[in-house]
Amino acid sequence: MNNETAKEIRKSLTADCTKCFGLCCTALTIVASSDFSINKPAGSPCANLQSNYGCRIHSNLRESGFKGCTVFDCLGAGQFVSQVTFKGQSWRRNPETADKMFRVFPIMEQIHEMIAYTAEALSYDIPRVLSEQLSVQLIELQNLTMLDADQLLSLDLVMYRFKLNKLLTETSEYIRQRLIATLPTSKNAKNYNQDRTDWIGKKLNGKDLRATNFRGAYLIAVDLRNADLRGVDFIGTDLRDADVRGANLSTSMFLTQMQLNSAKGDAKTSLPTHIQKPSHWMN
Ligand code: SF4
Repeated sequence: MNNETAKEIRKSLTADCTKCFGLCCTALTIVASSDFSINKPAGSPCANLQSNYGCRIHSNLRESGFKGCTVFDCLGAGQFVSQVTFKGQSWRRNPETADKMFRVFPIMEQIHEMIAYTAEALSYDIPRVLSEQLSVQLIELQNLTMLDADQLLSLDLVMYRFKLNKLLTETSEYIRQRLIATLPTSKNAKNYNQDRTDWIGKKLNGKDLRATNFRGAYLIAVDLRNADLRGVDFIGTDLRDADVRGANLSTSMFLTQMQLNSAKGDAKTSLPTHIQKPSHWMN
């Protein structure tokens, strides 16, 4: 797959709240914490959700104690469930469909996430066999999105996740090993490719971490200022409050908008082209 096709797929996974029936503000549970100032059960609308499905405090969510809302990204699952799966019939007009719609939303979100990862893997220069397996997986996942609500609710996504995980791991290994082979031995990122998963609060500022495997690691509040993070695998990494000001993430792998939204960056942070610079970084 060329980069243009991958870009098109990623674009189709961009959230468009104007076409969504406020599903993230209704379907999901909210637990009071530093990210949310209220408790809310799944299936009940947030008190700030307006009748047109817009948010009453959209322009000052952070100041109002709803930081978590500026981090969340449904990858377009909200508008897809609203407009495609439920054909534009809202839960307010058809309350009998509400429960089903709210349960389908997180399932679609997971499918969209797997599509995003698959499209990214396919955008890399990888061996043909691997590329073919990923292409099959992509079609399977895209077909899943077109299932009806009952079919979606009966899906077992574990099998799809398992298959994809194997292919993404192979992709990451291939790309990182190729990069590692070009690095000076003194800076060889193998030093950081340990089994360690907990880096919470560590100081890694200014380090050359190219090609490191941070898959599933806890990088909460890690100081990564001005670090070189090119070719780093960030799949499933917890980057909450990680400081990436001035860091080079331009060719980091499997980095998501949601991970970046939860980190601290600035105008000097270099990001992959499919990631938007979070607006709160500029404040
Ligand atoms: S505060 Fe706004 S964006 Fe956050 S859940 Fe409530 S309505 Fe949605």
